[in-house]
Amino acid sequence: MAENCVFCRIAEGSIPAEKVYENDEFVAFRDLNPQAPVHVLLIPRQHFATLLDVEDTALLGRALRCVQEVAKQLGLADDGFRVVVNCRENGGQTVYHLHWHILGGRFMTWPPG
Ligand code: 5GP
Ligand code: ZN
Repeated sequence: MAENCVFCRIAEGSIPAEKVYENDEFVAFRDLNPQAPVHVLLIPRQHFATLLDVEDTALLGRALRCVQEVAKQLGLADDGFRVVVNCRENGGQTVYHLHWHILGGRFMTWPPG
C-alpha cells in the first residue's frame, strides 16, 4: 500500500466508498463526483501510480474482464458505456493509483474535452 494514497485506503476499507464489485485483485466503487448517471472506478488492489507502471499485461486483461462484469451488473450492457484511463498530466489524471472509469447511463459525446 502506498502512503497517502486515497485509493489504497478505499481498497483496504479505511476510507469509505460505495463498492459495487470486488474480488481478490480488484475493487470497483462509485465516483465521488460522477460525470454520468453511472460512474464507477475500477482499481487494482495493488498500487500502480499510472497505466505506464504495470508490467503484467495479464493483469490489464483481467481488469477489462472486471469491466465487463461491472457493466453487466449495473445494467450498462444493452445501451453501452465508456471506459477511460487517464494517464498523467495531459490525460487529466488526478489520483495516482491506476483506475478505469466506467461511465454510462447517458449518451457520451466524442471527442472528450
Ligand atoms: P482521474 O482524474 O485521476 O482520472 O480520476 C480520479 C477520480 O477519482 C475523479 O473522478 C474523482 O471524482 C474520484 N475521486 C477522488 N477522490 C475520491 C474519493 O475519495 N472517493 C471516490 N469515490 N472517488 C474519488
Ligand atoms: Zn494506491
